[in-house]
Amino acid sequence: NTERRIVENSIRDIKDFPKPGIVFKDITTLLNDREAFGVTMNHLYQKYKEYNLDYIAGIDARGFIFAATLAQMLGIGFVPIRKKGKLPYTTISEKYSLEYGVDEIEVHIDAFSNIPNARVLLMDDLIATGGTANAAARLINQAGASCVEACFIIALDFLDGQKELKKSTEVYSLVEV
Ligand code: IMP
Repeated sequence: NTERRIVENSIRDIKDFPKPGIVFKDITTLLNDREAFGVTMNHLYQKYKEYNLDYIAGIDARGFIFAATLAQMLGIGFVPIRKKGKLPYTTISEKYSLEYGVDEIEVHIDAFSNIPNARVLLMDDLIATGGTANAAARLINQAGASCVEACFIIALDFLDGQKELKKSTEVYSLVEV
């Protein structure tokens, strides 16, 4: 449909970033286009306004932008899930594997504690292998809340990230490439 086409056309491909052979999906050209950013956020608002969400958790760093904007539109709170060592208070953490080695993300231990059994939407700009989002969903559940869905602007569908993540939560992606 038209909304998807506007969003998809606003995303730029950058060849050989951050390494040779990788085509990086650049969402800065979505964000600085008032129509594309507006269409994106309005589409997500229409979808999620009936979900009875309590929080939106965004993944460091591009996920913050979409998650915080949508949280404000829905009138609910925003929670940052960050790379290890960035959050100042007591955290819980989850490791996940990368192509080479492991990485770790964290959330504040009391991030969802104002609302018992909070319903949380997880957001990031893009899902590739799903490693990051899977770890984030585990973190939300570990923190005493419930990850009801994971939402992405872009899914790289030649990787099996969405399929993996669907084993543990609902998954929605605006654009699949
Ligand atoms: P995954 O864990 O393999 O699914 O990788 C997803 C994470 O890497 C997300 O936090 C994305 O922001 C980031 N990422 C990977 N590839 C791209 C890309 O092409 N554009 C923007 N972000 C990317």
